[in-house]
Order: sequence, then structure tokens, then C-alpha cells
Amino acid sequence: MPKYDYDLFVIGAGSGGVRAARIAASYGAKVAVAEEYRVGGTCVIRGCVPKKLLVYASHFAEEFEEAAGFGWTVGETSFDWKTLVANKDKEIDRLNGIYIRNLQNAGVEIIESRATLADAHTVLLAGTGKKVTAERILIAVGATPFLPDLPGIEHAITSNEAFHLEELPRRVVVVGGGYIAVEFTGIFNGLGAATTQLYRGPLFMRGFDDDLRALLAEEMTKKGVDLRMNADIAAIEKKGGELCLTLANGDVVKTDIVMYATGRVPNTKGLGLESVGVKLGKSGEIVVDGYSQSSVPGIYAVGDVTDRANLTPVAIREGHAFADTVYGGRDVKVDHSIIPTAVFSQPELGTVGLTEADARARDPEIDIYKTAFRAMKSTLSGSQERSFMKLVVDAKTDKVLGVHLMGPASGELIQAIGIAVTMGATKAQFDATIAVHPTAAEELVTLRDKWQPPAQQAAD
Ligand code: FAD
Repeated sequence: MPKYDYDLFVIGAGSGGVRAARIAASYGAKVAVAEEYRVGGTCVIRGCVPKKLLVYASHFAEEFEEAAGFGWTVGETSFDWKTLVANKDKEIDRLNGIYIRNLQNAGVEIIESRATLADAHTVLLAGTGKKVTAERILIAVGATPFLPDLPGIEHAITSNEAFHLEELPRRVVVVGGGYIAVEFTGIFNGLGAATTQLYRGPLFMRGFDDDLRALLAEEMTKKGVDLRMNADIAAIEKKGGELCLTLANGDVVKTDIVMYATGRVPNTKGLGLESVGVKLGKSGEIVVDGYSQSSVPGIYAVGDVTDRANLTPVAIREGHAFADTVYGGRDVKVDHSIIPTAVFSQPELGTVGLTEADARARDPEIDIYKTAFRAMKSTLSGSQERSFMKLVVDAKTDKVLGVHLMGPASGELIQAIGIAVTMGATKAQFDATIAVHPTAAEELVTLRDKWQPPAQQAAD
């Protein structure tokens, strides 16, 4: 008789949990995964995928306008939110089905239930009240939107609800300054809603390169977003059919929808972790070592619940590494030091490696190469949108420490550049690469002049 019901019990069938479950099962482990909402998790069901589909939708109005410069006459256009949402939901259902089949084909048992810990080897299934045991438990429960405590907050929505609005609102206020906030601002603005974004600090997109932050703010404003920094909501009131937002400075903003994208918190509440002795960090995240092992032997955690780098490919990598190490007999640690990432704002951002500020803080001897320009397409389309590219280079070793992009396809570009930066490419190696012409990306291998602060330029 086996000592436990399962070798591995995974709580949460999102990016990290699904990958870990499948790979562990492929090594011969008996695996079950519990999911309280929908298999696929945040990314597939209400994150990356539906978000990107809405981003695509929101680009068309601008593209129709730009077509005129190339000789096209686009007839009268109209947009139907319900069609977009229905088509998006169909695609999410399809992906949900694929995730379920992949788990089943790998021999993983799917349990549709909320699961919590009863002890270090026992899981309580809320659906049936049944308890099951496992030699190891992997917590992959992700994170959930954070809402501040203020009067009227019950009238606010988060990204979860934004995907299922009945109608496209006429006016939207997005609160927050991270990537989810700028992406949704771009979506609503592009689809034609009068869109305001409020951020409580002096400049949004904290953690990104300062040039990107400032330029993105300028470009979003040019596209018609009412972007307000140092602005925060003190209270929300529903009056008639509209919401009245009273800001901390006394200003009142009227809107149809207010969407909070003010961060996400690990889903650890009520999981029973404390009673089992699993150490949590100050945001409630599970503290793990390089192998995703928690403070309790046999309990592991991957993905957003560990609050390391909250991105799908990272959760997947962590889940895979866990399964390889524990069930595959390979010693695999995830390197979190270089993570290429995209922001599907309008314009789009792509970034990898150190920001200029972080690089300078480590060692002031760095060289900066940067350029801002209007893409070739703009010459005929009339678009005033600027693109921007920046390289942060170690002056001593010539190694490219960071690349920061704004402009069309920056997300696609940064994936390829991420390979070079991960390999430790030098600026000389970038320069030795033959340019692809005519592209915007050729700027990356033709930047010859070191950027100098304006005062120094004048003195030279
Ligand atoms: P999740 O994918 O969140 O999965 C956790 C699962 O656990 C969920 O399905 C949940 O229902 C389930 N669960 C929770 N508690 C329990 C319980 N007690 N019992 C059973 N089941 C439970 N990342 C990118 O890389 N690129 C993007 O473009 C991107 N866009 C995003 C856009 C939005 C709007 C959001 C919200 C996130 C986005 N992300 C993006 C982040 C990405 O979705 C997450 O980093 C990723 O999903 C984390 O995977 P995970 O496995 O840790 O958790």
C-alpha cells in the first residue's frame, strides 16, 4: 500500500501548476491538480491571452486612419464590443480545453475544487469535504488583484471584470501605474472610450527605465489619454447612472467605469499555510529557496504566489525546474537575473536587463546609446508616434547590460535581443552584426555615438 494517495498534489492549475504537474507525471509520478476556477489560470483565462486579444482590437481605429496616407479609402467603420467579447471567450474556451486535455493525456487527475492544507501532507478539498494525502504538495495558486480600502470601492472593477463588461463604457478611469494599468488604458482609449489614467506617484511604470517611463507618458497623452500623475482617489460615489470620483486634491472626475490595477497580492489567504508552518513574506508571498522549496519540507511553491517575477514564462520555468529537480533527477535552478519582458501599451515596450539607473547604482562607469525617431511607416501614415531605443553598456567590459525599446513590435524584438543579452553580448558584437534594412531594429546595431548629458554636449 502506498503511504500517500499521490506523489504530488498541485494546488492551482495555472501557468506554473499545469507545467509542474505535466512534467512530474511524465517522469512517472502520480499527480493530481486542484483548480477552483478554470484550468489554464490567470494568463489563459483572464490575463495575458485575453488582454492581448483586446490590445489587437484596440489598434484598428488608428490603423484605419493611417491607411489613408497609403492611398486606401476605408469606408465607414463601427465597433461592436459584444462581438469582440464573444469571440475572445470562444478562444479562451478552446485554450481551456487544450490545457485540460494536455493534463489528462499526461495522466494528471484534475479535481475541480478549492483546496487548502490540512497538514504538511494532507489537502482538504472544499468541493467534497474529502481529504487526500500526498508525499509532496506544490502551491501554485497565483495572485489576485489588490483593491485599497476606501469609501465606495465596491463600485470599482479590476482586470477580472474588465474582460466581461456588458458594454464598452463611454468613459473609463484606470487607476494604477503598472503594466496592467497602461495596457488597459491603451485598450479602452483605442476602442474609443474617453480614458483617464490616475497614478498616485510622480511618474508611472516604476522599475522600468526612466526614459521609457517619460516617453510612454508623452506618447499616451498624444493619443488622447487624460494621464494624471500625483493623482489618487479618496472616495467613489455612485450618483444616478454614473460614478463620481473625488480625488485626494478635491478634484471630481465623473466616469462610467473605474478599474483598479493597483497591484496583485499572493493568493495565500485561508490556505492553511501558517498552521502548517510555511513561512510567508510581508505581502503574504510564500518564501522559497532557489529550488522553490518552502520552509516546510515537502511543500513547494512556484509562480506569482512566491512573488519573484510575476510573469507567465517565469511561472512555467519555475514549475518545470521543480519537476525536473524533484522527479527527473536533474538539478535545475531558475535564473531570475535576466528576464526579457514586453508591455503591450500603446506604443509597446520591450525591455531586458538593467535600467540605466540600476546600472549606474551598481557602477557609475556605464555608456548609454539612445535614439528617438519616427518609424518609416509614419512618413506616409502621418502618425506622430515616436519610437525609442536605448542600450546600457558596461564601459569597462563593453557588455550590454540592458536594452529598452518603445515602438511597434518591441515585444517581438526584445525576445530576440534577450538571447544576445543573456549570452553576455558586448556592444562591439552588436555593432559587428550586419543591419537589416529598412527596419527600425537596425538602429540597435548602428548606434555609434555615446549619449552625453546635455550640459556636457554643450561644453564639448
Ligand atoms: P495563475 O496562473 O494565477 O494560476 C493560479 C490558479 O490557482 C488559478 O487558476 C486559480 O483559480 C487557482 N487557485 C487559487 N487558489 C486556489 C485554491 N485554493 N484551490 C484551487 N485552485 C486555486 N504575464 C506575462 O508574462 N505576460 C503578460 O502579458 C501578462 N499579462 C497579464 C495581464 C493581466 C490582466 C494579468 C492579471 C496578469 C498578466 N500576466 C502576464 C501575469 C500572468 O498571468 C501570471 O504571472 C501567471 O498567470 C502566474 O502563473 P501562476 O501559475 O503563478 O498562477
